[in-house]
Amino acid sequence: MTISFENKVVLVTGASTGIGAAVAKGFAASGAKVAINYGSSHAEAKEVLAEITAKSGEAELFPADLRDTAAARKMVEDVIAKFGRIDVLVCNAGGLVGRVGLGEMSDEFYESVMDLNVRSVVSTCSAALPHLKKSKGNIVITGSVASKVGGGAGASLYAASKAAVQNLVKTYAKEHAGDGIRVNSVSPGTIYTLFHKKHTSPEVLENITASIPMKRLGTPEDCVGAYLFLASDELAGYITGQAIEVNGGQLMP
Ligand code: NAD
Repeated sequence: MTISFENKVVLVTGASTGIGAAVAKGFAASGAKVAINYGSSHAEAKEVLAEITAKSGEAELFPADLRDTAAARKMVEDVIAKFGRIDVLVCNAGGLVGRVGLGEMSDEFYESVMDLNVRSVVSTCSAALPHLKKSKGNIVITGSVASKVGGGAGASLYAASKAAVQNLVKTYAKEHAGDGIRVNSVSPGTIYTLFHKKHTSPEVLENITASIPMKRLGTPEDCVGAYLFLASDELAGYITGQAIEVNGGQLMP
């Protein structure tokens, strides 16, 4: 058995940088046509597209701010207009937004974290559902180790938002098993991307590294195999409602 996504269309949200960019390239290298979504990092998204097309892959850019439900719906319509179908939806767009403690919490911050990490997933899955029913496709959502162990200082809402989406996976899996749709998540540990470059100090990252049995932070490329595996009907056709932890042994649930 091999992993091949020939003739499949894969929509990866948040695919301009980090984990999503690596996942988009991984699907393209496995034969998929890839719809690359991103928020504002146009130059980085163009680089991902260029890298894929340079290797004779097929991809297209679909910028959309997924905090906005209407934008998520339009993105899905645009993908259908371009490629005609969606076989795999990877809901990966997300982030910490900032480190804000309970004492400084505001409604604006609450909405920015929840809209980015939860609303984006609900809206995109909902908009893609009719197309996934047609293709008997599947969904892979990016969760986080924080969903199980809580966030670092100032990351309470982020951790809760990831617990929410990892829980959504289970209900969606039950709701749509009858439609032939599988729904799973990849739960990364500490992966060295813009996420931590922006929000985590080198000292904290050193301490985290020391606590990881494999004694290194993860890379975006470390995550790719779990997404390809879960999205593959050949390899994971009887797997739904599950999470794969990619964390160097950081958490063994
Ligand atoms: P990243 O900052 O490199 O990637 C974030 C991606 O999300 C980018 O492509 C960005 O364009 C996109 N994005 C941001 N805001 C958006 C918006 N409003 N609309 C559409 N797209 C938007 O960081 P990353 O670490 O690769 O993060 C990818 C996912 O992995 C996120 O969901 C993050 O929460 C999750 N995650 C990361 C880690 C880690 O340690 N890096 C651990 C667990 C989970």
